Amino acid sequence: MYFGYRDGEMQVEQVDLAKIAAEVGTPFYCYSYGQLAANLNAYRRALAPFHASICYSVKANSSLAVVSAVAALGGGADVVSGGELFLALRAGIKPENIVFSGVGKTEQELAGAVTQGIRQINVESAEELQMVAQVAQRLGKRANVALRVNPDVDALTHVKITTGKKENKFGVPWPQAHELYHAALQMPSLNVCGIAVHIGSQLLDLEPFRLAFGRVAHMVEELERDGVSIQNIDLGGGLGINYNVELPPTCESYAEVVRETLGHLNKHIIVEPGRSVVGNAGVLVTRVIYTKQTEQKLFVVTDAGMNDLIRPAMYDAWHSILPVNRTGEPPVVADVVGPICESGDVFAKDRIIEPMQSGRLLAIMCAGAYGESMASQYNFRPVPPEVMVRGSEYAVVRPRKTYEQMLEGQTVPNWVNEQ
Ligand SMILES: *Cc1c(COP(=O)(O)O)cnc(C)c1O
Repeated sequence: MYFGYRDGEMQVEQVDLAKIAAEVGTPFYCYSYGQLAANLNAYRRALAPFHASICYSVKANSSLAVVSAVAALGGGADVVSGGELFLALRAGIKPENIVFSGVGKTEQELAGAVTQGIRQINVESAEELQMVAQVAQRLGKRANVALRVNPDVDALTHVKITTGKKENKFGVPWPQAHELYHAALQMPSLNVCGIAVHIGSQLLDLEPFRLAFGRVAHMVEELERDGVSIQNIDLGGGLGINYNVELPPTCESYAEVVRETLGHLNKHIIVEPGRSVVGNAGVLVTRVIYTKQTEQKLFVVTDAGMNDLIRPAMYDAWHSILPVNRTGEPPVVADVVGPICESGDVFAKDRIIEPMQSGRLLAIMCAGAYGESMASQYNFRPVPPEVMVRGSEYAVVRPRKTYEQMLEGQTVPNWVNEQ
C-alpha cells in the first residue's frame, strides 16, 4: 500500500499529501517511488524465466526523475521520438537497452538512434526501412532493425488506443512484412535482429495478446525457415491497470501467455510497458476553488484542468477522486470540473463523493501515466510541478514555472509594433 489514509489523511508512502500541497501549491503530481519499483519488479519476476528486457515506454511519463528511477532499477526504455531518446540517455539508460518505436521517425531522429547504436529500431514501413539503411550507410554504421508488424488483432480497448488492427496506421501489414525482411537482408547497412508488435493500451483481457503473440510465433517460424534469423521478439506494452473496478491481468498471467505462445522459440523477449509501470504510482492533487449549485447539478470546480490531465476529456477515462482529508460525511452527487474554457474540461460526471467545500484538497488517483506527459500550457497555465516520494522523503522533481519562465525564448518582432 503506497497510497492510503492514516487518521483520515491521505499519505503517499509515509508523507502526508496535505504537507506537500502546503509547500508546492496545487495542482501538482505526486509519485510513489515504491509503487513504481514494485510495478517494475513484478515484470522482472514474471519474466525471469526468459531472456527478457523491460523497456519502459517513456511516453507514459517522461519526467526525468521517473525515467531515472527506471534506469536505477535496471529497466530499459522504449522511445518514440528523438527527444525521448535524449531523455532516456540522460536518465542513464544504456543504448543497448533502448528500442525506438513510432510510425514517423525523421531522418534526424534515426541518425541519432543509429549513432548511439541502440538495441533496435522498430521500423514501420518500406520507406522507413530505406531511410534507416541510407542513414546508417552515410554514418558508416550498421543499424539494428526489427519490423513492427500489424497482426490485425482487436485489442478490445478504447478506439483511440487500439493500434493493432489493419485499419490503424501502425506497423507493416502482415503480408508485406515477409517481403520487407528479405529486402532488409539485402541492405548491408542493416542488421536485421527482431520483430515487434504493439496492439494497444489498457488491455484488460489476455486473449488479444495470445492471438497476436501466436501470430508472431508463426511469423518467426516462417521467417527462420526462409533464412531470416530473429533474435529479439518485442511484444510492445499495453497491460491495463485498475482505475475503477477493472481486473487487469497480472504480470504472471501475462508471462504465462508469453510462455505458451513464444516460449518454445527461445528468443530474447522485449516488453514495453508504460501505463502498468507508472499509472497507479501517481496522483494529481488539486484544490477545490468553488462549488456551484445549479437547478440540475452540483459542480465542484478544481484548480486542476484538462491541460493538466487530459485523459477524461480525450479517452472518456474514469479516475477515482478522493478527499485528501477524509471527514466521513455522507456523500453527495457532483460533477468535478476544471477551470478551462472548454465544456469537455470535466474530471467526473455525477460522481458520488464526500461533500467538497472550497479550499479542500482532492486526489485524482492513478494519474501517473499519460498525465504530466500529455499536459499542456493551454489557457497559459503552467504544467503542474511534480513531486516524488520514497519512504518518508520527498523531493520536488520538476518545479512549477513562473509566468516569466513560461515566456522564455519568445520574442516579438519589431514590425509587430509598427503602424
Ligand atoms: C504507447 C506504447 C507503449 C506503452 O503502452 P502502455 O499501454 O502504456 O503499456 C509501448 N509500445 C509502443 C510502441 C507504444 O506506442
